[in-house]
Amino acid sequence: MGDVAQLWIGGAATDGAGARIAVTDPATGRPVDEVPAATPAEVDAAVQAAAGAFPAWRRTDAGERAAHLARLADTVEAHAGELVALLTREQGKPTLEAQGELRHFLGGLRYYAEAATKLRGTYQELPSQFGPAYGLVVRRPIGVVAAITPWNFPLTLLGNKVGPALATGNTVVAKPAETTPLTTLRVAELAAEAGLPPGVLNVVTGGPDTGEALVAHPGVRRVAFTGQTATGRRIMGLAGPALKHVSLELGGSDPTIVLPDADLDAAVKNIQIGRYWNCGQACLAPKRAFVHADVYQAFLDRLVERVGRYQPGPGDTRADKPKLRIGPLHTAAQRDLVAAQLADALDGGAKVLVGGEAPVGPGHFFQPAVVVDAPEDARLATEEVFGPVLPVWKVGGLDEAIERANATQYGLGSSIWTRDAAAIDRAVRDLDAGVTWVNQLHYGYDELPFGGTKQSGFGREHGLQALEEYTEPKSVVVGGLA
Ligand code: NAD
Repeated sequence: MGDVAQLWIGGAATDGAGARIAVTDPATGRPVDEVPAATPAEVDAAVQAAAGAFPAWRRTDAGERAAHLARLADTVEAHAGELVALLTREQGKPTLEAQGELRHFLGGLRYYAEAATKLRGTYQELPSQFGPAYGLVVRRPIGVVAAITPWNFPLTLLGNKVGPALATGNTVVAKPAETTPLTTLRVAELAAEAGLPPGVLNVVTGGPDTGEALVAHPGVRRVAFTGQTATGRRIMGLAGPALKHVSLELGGSDPTIVLPDADLDAAVKNIQIGRYWNCGQACLAPKRAFVHADVYQAFLDRLVERVGRYQPGPGDTRADKPKLRIGPLHTAAQRDLVAAQLADALDGGAKVLVGGEAPVGPGHFFQPAVVVDAPEDARLATEEVFGPVLPVWKVGGLDEAIERANATQYGLGSSIWTRDAAAIDRAVRDLDAGVTWVNQLHYGYDELPFGGTKQSGFGREHGLQALEEYTEPKSVVVGGLA
């Protein structure tokens, strides 16, 4: 790359004095670029730039803020090819999936461009001994937002935060994952080209130390975090004493339940896409399947046939039909972790029906796997599996399925495949999760609030609800008018 900005502070690129972090292509191990680890002084400069831009940005007409977001989306779209290629190089995902991520990012920006003028307060008449009075609840932006994102969906997870934050008049310091900083930096540069005022969107690159300096900075009033549960706990520890607003979008181990009356082809296809998309590195993927005994074997036969079609390879090349391209895992450590989780299940008596090998050679490739008979206490059941492995368990009925689905520390997504209204009603009421998809792909819609319960975190992204998450209510009492 080389021509990508280093740190992006106050509308300009700055080199950064800290150590350099190499960005490598997960498919080849070859260097793509390097970025600086922002020092505390540079984090401070970025927060100061965001704080300096806040008074004017919050007073900017909502329609104008909306127009800025729409222009940003248009400018990003005009550079779609370049961004898709960059995303594939730094993250590893196939071009088709990178295109999908970019579309989702644009959809999110445009959704919040439209939503910027939809933020509403309330009015009510008040009882008063001093003449007529009424009350208002107005919503005010919070201030400087730290937007900390992981490496699995660098663009969409950035958009989930920047969209509602800017729409409601906040300013942002973004900190992308140290292994996928390049697309975020390029978006910030394009935002400046699109006319976004300096300081409204800043980017600092770096790892945990940079992230902690940002979270702990007294000028940051809200932290929007997506990443691992353990990191979320650490962030709460830093932000809690300063009483900052925090939203935590953390890990998940989504269950999916398949009942005998399900459209089995649709269930298999969508569970396959959901689990293996992005090489299994998605928070909201179906990660544990509970399939009714009556359709268990038929489900497995169809799933194994489809999963056997995956051909791991570099994301910028196509597989020969009918094979399907799947990219590498993002890092060597990630591949080692998934392999260890699978090995643990096999040690406990599980069987692999397809896949599970890690090909030798460059790139962190892994042949997608389907596993049966894993013990209930296997790591595949108790931990988040962030890779292309799906354990499938046979269940005798809905009660057992729901009980086992809920037997996890996580509570992000969940799904059920059935047309039985009573079973759907049970799932909606009883599955402990922030989302339940019914006969649908695990997918984060811009229109609907998304987030977790239990150790999957709290706070919601997406939907009009996000406008509230980036504003504080203020009550106003008005009297003396009569
Ligand atoms: P991670 O927690 O390691 O890192 C996420 C971000 O936090 C990175 O930018 C990282 O540099 C930064 N960070 C790390 N330590 C920090 C610290 N001490 N203080 C401040 N910042 C710190 O997560 P990851 O491995 O990059 O991402 C994968 C995880 O993200 C998975 O668990 C996945 O389920 C989760 N995820 C959740 C959602 C959701 O919406 N719930 C979406 C996508 C991914």
